[in-house]
Amino acid sequence: MTEQSPRRILVTGGAGFIGSALVRHLLRDTPHHVLNLDKLTYAGNLASLDPIANSPRYTFVQADIGDAAAVAATIADFQPQVITHLAAESHVDRSIDGPADFIQTNVVGTFTMLSAALDYWRGLDADGKAGFRFHHISTDEVFGSLADDGFFTEATPYDPHSPYSASKAASDHLVRAWYDTYGLPVLITNCSNNYGPYHFPEKLIPLMIIKALAGEDLPVYGAGLNVRDWLFVDDHARALTRVFEAGTPGESYIIGGRAERTNIAVVTRICETLDRIRPRSDGRSYAAQIAHVADRPGHDHRYAIDPSKIERELGWVAQESFDSGIERTIRWYLDNESWWRPLVEQKGAIKRVGLSG
Ligand code: NAD
Repeated sequence: MTEQSPRRILVTGGAGFIGSALVRHLLRDTPHHVLNLDKLTYAGNLASLDPIANSPRYTFVQADIGDAAAVAATIADFQPQVITHLAAESHVDRSIDGPADFIQTNVVGTFTMLSAALDYWRGLDADGKAGFRFHHISTDEVFGSLADDGFFTEATPYDPHSPYSASKAASDHLVRAWYDTYGLPVLITNCSNNYGPYHFPEKLIPLMIIKALAGEDLPVYGAGLNVRDWLFVDDHARALTRVFEAGTPGESYIIGGRAERTNIAVVTRICETLDRIRPRSDGRSYAAQIAHVADRPGHDHRYAIDPSKIERELGWVAQESFDSGIERTIRWYLDNESWWRPLVEQKGAIKRVGLSG
């Protein structure tokens, strides 16, 4: 089978931010068939899939990854050659107030997916077994925090600090155990902070764009000197496709866009871009709205990725620079208020959470 011959890809969490970017990419740019299994939590949004929803190669199933019977039935029916597992609780601040959902979905849910995948994989013929992949999408936050220099690599020891990153670390370890113990052909990717269109407005970049346009304060945690390494979501979708098509089972790949920025630099950049393309009516800069607020408890200082392995071994490289990606993102939010306005009004997506001690 060549890399681009059509495969049946079961995507979990395909109505989320990264999952929907992956599903749109698979249906637009590859011949693969996609089944999207998603519970549609507050973070899931079928409107993000409108551009491909009518494709004959696309199927949606609403189910919880912790529902073993529903997962097994979906797998038996769809007969996937690849399971790309993104469904998760993903917001660090929410994990501080309510870690139970993170343990249930990220740890128990991943266990349920692995158990169902193993049962199914064991029933395949030799070719089916050899071609099958279980791809787990994880985060660089499992590696903890860096000082001002150095980078995360695939060899960095795990050292998670938040309930979110601890739950993702646990799920990574389960996935690796299913390879080491049972031989299930798994792949793990750990990526840095994603940004781009269709990002739920609770996250830093869309939050700042939307609050800036509303004339509200732009809340920067602490001094804003925490560093994140930004990855444009469509670059990530291409990387994920490359990994499940050509990655080596049992390996992990870390994915980043070589775009480190402090949070205050990101917010300042958003203000400068808006000043240029959507100036405030009073002629002042959006930067006047920046307000420093109490820091997040346990806030990791710096994340930075060395993506040399995926660049060298799989030939993937980020196409978007931070400057081009942030401008595309801002323009998308300006043009797609009908996508984000209901999330702000009905789901309270821009209220601060995560300060409980
Ligand atoms: P998201 O919160 O935008 O989307 C998560 C999706 O999973 C939603 O559609 C939601 O409905 C679904 N979901 C949640 N619980 C479920 C359950 N129990 N059963 C079925 N579906 C469920 O998340 P995202 O930002 O797209 O992240 C996707 C994956 O990538 C996650 O595993 C996350 O840990 C990882 N990740 C994200 C980032 C980032 O910057 N966003 C960075 C590194 C890793």
